[in-house]
Amino acid sequence: MHKSGFVNIIGCPNVGKSTLLNAMVGEKLSIITSKAQTTRHRIMGIVSGDDYQIVFSDTPGILKPNYKLQEKMMQFVITAFTDADLFLLITDIFEDIELDETYVAKLKKTTIPILLLINKIDEAKPEQLEEKAKKWKALLPNAELMYISALHKMNLDKVMKRIIALLPEGGAFYDKDTLTDKNERFFVSEIIREKILNNYHKEIPYSVEINVNSFKDEPTIVKIQADIIVERESQKGIIIGDKGSSIKRVGIQSRKDCETFFGKQVHLELFVKVDKDWRNNDLRLKNFGY
Ligand code: GDP
Ligand code: MG
Repeated sequence: MHKSGFVNIIGCPNVGKSTLLNAMVGEKLSIITSKAQTTRHRIMGIVSGDDYQIVFSDTPGILKPNYKLQEKMMQFVITAFTDADLFLLITDIFEDIELDETYVAKLKKTTIPILLLINKIDEAKPEQLEEKAKKWKALLPNAELMYISALHKMNLDKVMKRIIALLPEGGAFYDKDTLTDKNERFFVSEIIREKILNNYHKEIPYSVEINVNSFKDEPTIVKIQADIIVERESQKGIIIGDKGSSIKRVGIQSRKDCETFFGKQVHLELFVKVDKDWRNNDLRLKNFGY
C-alpha cells in the first residue's frame, strides 16, 4: 500500500514552522530568523520513501494584514487550508499572539486530522507544557497533541510515524527524487532576504524584496546578479551603508550561503533599486510571485 498527501504546516509567526519543515526534509529550504514574517511564500518540501510521499508546505505565520503584501501572504495560508490532507498546527510555549478566531473556527469544524505540535520543549518547564496542553485541548478537542523541539529534532521521528499513519492511500504526486516546488532563483532570493533580515532593523527587512535578474549555472561557478528592491530613497542609503559597508556584508554572507546551497563557487553581484510603494502595488506583487 502506498500513501501520500499534503501536510500543511500552519500557525502564528515565529513558533518554528520553517525550522520544522527544514528538519523534516533534511535541507534548508525555508529561511529562519528570530523575526516574525520571515516566511512570505508557501514553500513545499517533499519527503519520499518506498511506500509513501509527504508533501510538506511551510506557510507564512497567521496575522491580520496591514498592507497588500501581507494580504497576499495570508492568501497562501488560505490555500493551505483548502488542499490539506493533514494539518500540522504549530504552537510554542512562548506564543504571545493568539491564533486568529476565524482560523480556530475553521480548525474546529474540519474533518481533516490535526496534529497539534507544541514546539520548543527544550526551553519549557513541565508546568508550562501542562498549561499549554490544557488550553489547546479545550480550544481544539479534535487535535492530537504532541510535544517537540524542531530545533533540536526532539520527537520528530514520532511525528513522522504519525503523519504516515494518518495519510490517505494514494500514489506519488511528484517524482520521488523531487525535493521542492521552488526553483534555484527563489532560493537565491530567500538567502539574500535572510541576510537582510539579520543585518537591518525596524521596517527595513519588511520593505525589501529581491529580484534575481540573472542566474548562470556554469560548470565550476554560478554567476548571479540580483537587485535589492526597497520602497524609498532613504532605505536605499541604509541598505548600502557607510561607504557600501553594509551591502558588502550582505553580499559576502549571501554568497557563502549560496555556495553551500549549490555546492560550488558563486559570483554574486547586488544592486539596490527603489520601487516606490511596491508592497501595495498589485502588479509588482504579481511580478514578485505573490
Ligand atoms: P516560523 O516563523 O514559525 O517559521 O518560525 P522559525 O522557524 O523562523 O523560527 C523562529 C525562531 O524560533 C527562530 O529563532 C528559531 O531558531 C526558533 N526555534 C524554532 N524551533 C525551536 C525549538 O525547538 N527550540 C527553540 N529553543 N527555538 C526554536
Ligand atoms: Mg517561517
